[in-house]
Amino acid sequence: MRIEQLGEGTPEIAVVAAIHGDEPCGVRAVERLLAESPAAERPVKFVVANEKALERDVRYVDEDLNRAFPGDADADTHERRLADALAREVRDCTTLSLHSTQSYAEPFALVDTIDAVARSVCPYLPVSVVVETEAESDGRLIEYPHVVEAECGLQHSEEAAENAYDLICGFLTATGALADDAEPVAGDDCESVDVYRLGSPVPKTEADDYEVLAENFERVTEGEAFAAADGEELVAAESFYPVLMSAYGYENVFGYRAERIGVLES
Ligand SMILES: [Zn+2]
Repeated sequence: MRIEQLGEGTPEIAVVAAIHGDEPCGVRAVERLLAESPAAERPVKFVVANEKALERDVRYVDEDLNRAFPGDADADTHERRLADALAREVRDCTTLSLHSTQSYAEPFALVDTIDAVARSVCPYLPVSVVVETEAESDGRLIEYPHVVEAECGLQHSEEAAENAYDLICGFLTATGALADDAEPVAGDDCESVDVYRLGSPVPKTEADDYEVLAENFERVTEGEAFAAADGEELVAAESFYPVLMSAYGYENVFGYRAERIGVLES
């Protein structure tokens, strides 16, 4: 785990990159920001979490770090020990954790529940969607208070690194670490943010070829085929919004069903 700091004092704000080693966008954005070294109004801690997995360009070494919290300093696996260390590192911080996906190119935010932190941070982020993950938060960093996760875009893409940088700038402006006029947030001028609540995962049956037929955040209606395994279509028993759905992004699930629950006004 690599830790850097911008500004003087004990940070109450943290940015975490590379929870997953094959999602380098956050690290690139952190390095870009540190190289620019903007004047910080409040100190900020930057954490590159899973350096071992990052070096090998793999999601994890022993197990998924984002299912290993709270972790254990004496655990047998690298990620379980790392989860313990990372949780301690960000314990007293309002934290942004950067990810990327195989499912969706646009950036969006994830929070455990829409609380005061989510309400104050999300409107500053270049996103038009925030997803509540409470039902599926077990073992994830997002389960901790004051943590906002961001999906920056497609894994290994240039755009995801650009989006990650804009997300960090928006987050640091929201938390008062960067002056409001220091770095304008790029992306669309979002006046409101749609809120979705994550529901049940969509399991994959054993197959060689997987296909997702639906678009993420676009409503799938009852009776519609939304995915296929070896050509066998999966049909929606009831309508839902697909979230984080991709053919090969996860080992055991296509992604998640979600419902649209409202709008967050900025
Ligand atoms: Zn990730």
